[in-house]
Amino acid sequence: PVSATSDNVVLVTGGSGLVGSALQHLIFSEPIGSSYGRKEGEEWVFLSSPECDLRNITQTQEVFRKYKPGKVIHLAAKVGGLFANMSSQHTFLRDNLLMNDSVLQASHESKVNKLVSCLSTCVFPDQVTYPLTEEKIHLGPPHSSNFGYSHAKRLIDIQNHAYHDQFGDQYTSVIPTNVFGPGDNYDLKDAHVIPGLIHKCYLAKQNETPFVVSGSGKPLRQFIYSRDLAKLFIWVLREYKEIDPIILSVGEEDEVSIREVADAIIESMGFTGPVEYDTSKADGQYRKPASNAKLTRLMRESGSEDFHFTPFKIALKESVDWFLENYQSAAR
Ligand code: NDP
Repeated sequence: PVSATSDNVVLVTGGSGLVGSALQHLIFSEPIGSSYGRKEGEEWVFLSSPECDLRNITQTQEVFRKYKPGKVIHLAAKVGGLFANMSSQHTFLRDNLLMNDSVLQASHESKVNKLVSCLSTCVFPDQVTYPLTEEKIHLGPPHSSNFGYSHAKRLIDIQNHAYHDQFGDQYTSVIPTNVFGPGDNYDLKDAHVIPGLIHKCYLAKQNETPFVVSGSGKPLRQFIYSRDLAKLFIWVLREYKEIDPIILSVGEEDEVSIREVADAIIESMGFTGPVEYDTSKADGQYRKPASNAKLTRLMRESGSEDFHFTPFKIALKESVDWFLENYQSAAR
């Protein structure tokens, strides 16, 4: 065993990433003792890769020995765009398998009493009926474009059940839809749609060139603001009792088209130049809705009616404002 834990210590892996930094913002801005703030006496530790390479079990055990967490939120992952995934399936599989195994095993050895890990909607089968619901994860192979990453993520659910069945460990996982927010990855080669469009619109404004959006703008997606997701992580940590995963998403009725995303960015950025839709670029799937029925039901049952998703335009404005204030470091 690594050491005895302190229930007052919450360790967050991947604390420097998009979701981890939103969690830091929440924990340090909400009043102590409030619904989504720290509990009195609770200590939060946010890890980044320079402090510990989680692919290495020895380093991971050392970190658990140092902080003695009673609760863990496991966000760290090797995450990448389509091209990176397609060209490095083995790296995405192995890095994520190793990280997940180190974190779950070190948690087990040190008797962590609650562990919440993070899956992604790409774990779902390629051939699936919509909307996505939690019980459909293992019904068929994931899309081939990122099978390494998806299988590593799926295995977290299997590991959670195995640790629970054999040892009674309380390990669970969440499935967020497309996350966006301050501190996103704005690298034009590899960015998700929202940070990519924010960066492109900024450059179009600076260079007085057209703002070119890839595709028709028609596909619909469910986007979740990182700061809303952070609150839901707190709720899962404190209230969610199941081992099975739970989808963290806005409702199906809150899908947003890529055109609406572009329009909201244009408005927030104050861009007045021409906008073009490059229909020679692929649109991807028209919709891939996920159901948040389980989340809505359980939050209601736990009396968490004070949670509301931030309206999309406001969340997007906050994200654009963050990008403008941090352009030098953000658009790396
Ligand atoms: P980011 O890419 O922004 O952050 C990844 C984090 O993982 C960073 O803190 C990074 O540390 C850390 N990390 C990566 N490799 C290692 C390593 N070998 N050892 C230790 N730490 C490591 O990811 P997000 O915040 O976007 O994602 C968080 C979680 O949410 C992930 O599990 C991801 O799969 C999941 N997710 C994300 C979605 C999205 O749209 N962004 C959608 C659905 C799920 P450092 O920066 O210091 O290197």
